[in-house]
Amino acid sequence: MAHSRKEKINTTEQALRERMKELDCLYEMVDILVNPNASVAERMAGVVERLPRAWQFPEIAIARITLDDIVYQSANFVDIDYSQGADIVIDGHTRGVIEVGYRSADLPEQANNPFLDEERKLIENIAHQIAVHVQRHEIELRQKELEAQVQHADRLATIGQLASGVAHEMNDPLSGILGFAQLALKAPNIPPTVEEDLNEIVAASLRAREIVKKLLLFARQTPPQKSRVALNPIVEDALFLLEAGCDRPGIKWVRELCDNLPTIDADPVQVRQVIVNLAVNAMQAVARDGTVTVQTETDDSEVMLTVTDTGCGMRAEMIEKIFTPFFTTKDVGEGTGLGLSVVHGIVTAHGGTIDIDSEVDRGTRFTVRFAASNNSEHERPGI
Ligand code: ADP
Repeated sequence: MAHSRKEKINTTEQALRERMKELDCLYEMVDILVNPNASVAERMAGVVERLPRAWQFPEIAIARITLDDIVYQSANFVDIDYSQGADIVIDGHTRGVIEVGYRSADLPEQANNPFLDEERKLIENIAHQIAVHVQRHEIELRQKELEAQVQHADRLATIGQLASGVAHEMNDPLSGILGFAQLALKAPNIPPTVEEDLNEIVAASLRAREIVKKLLLFARQTPPQKSRVALNPIVEDALFLLEAGCDRPGIKWVRELCDNLPTIDADPVQVRQVIVNLAVNAMQAVARDGTVTVQTETDDSEVMLTVTDTGCGMRAEMIEKIFTPFFTTKDVGEGTGLGLSVVHGIVTAHGGTIDIDSEVDRGTRFTVRFAASNNSEHERPGI
């Protein structure tokens, strides 16, 4: 009797010790998981290193976490013969698994079931904690991204207002300069050098007028005149102009136009401007030989326009700046830094989006998405 009471006390003590160990482990896990300065990878590495200590045979237990196909494992990890696992389920999707176990060669002989019931609950609890924290981390990241986007859009809007103010102010004096220079050119007997200078003035003021026009477009001073339009003919029209004017024999233009594209509600002149600006940039990004591909696609709710080049590509820091008005890496005469600002203005005014994929020395892809018209008619093949 005394013997069995002692045994009972021993078992209770052991259960209590196990429970304390599990609680300690859970507290430490939460500590590791909430560390605001650690990345997801650092958190997983911390958890996996700490896990074995909470198991019945801590010295020989090994652990592994697989999250989004990335594997984190405890030191001296070897293949597990006996394992206990729990799925990491985030937002209804199984994104990974957490496993703790032993190699059979390491286990003491009497341990034919090396796992305790409590350990099953513990591993499920930890998998749940990981899921909660990863989800929270991802929500925070998305929020930060969104805030950055809003700030960026605010900055662009402020610059846009400023720019449109300046553009309006410049319109009148510019018209005067252009008009008077053209008038002076008509005067009889002007010396050739003066004529040359006057022609320079005309050319410069035409260029300045072009910039003013782009600024006004950027600042959306010209609201889109929307109608139900088919995108493919606009692409053909824009490319016809570009190919005709392109003096770069090394550039190969490729069209991949979807036959059955829904229509979009858009201003065809502005959409053509978007295609021209993206395609001119693509062409300029290709140093000598290369390909510019213009593609249209649909998933029925949206119509996608992609312009892909095999040119110089861009680094991430640069991509952050390219929609800012006057940001250019091109020589005077080649670029004004307004092309993409205009694209941004037009696409936003149409309720569309722009995505960029770029790799230095490999090329760039701009994807513009427009909503398909409600009850959209589909373009007929070949139109
Ligand atoms: P611009 O072409 O007049 O410089 P943009 O606003 O059109 O003005 O473009 C801004 C900058 O973005 C360009 O100077 C260039 O550095 C970069 N850029 C735009 N498109 C591409 C592209 N397809 N490949 C590489 N860089 C590009």
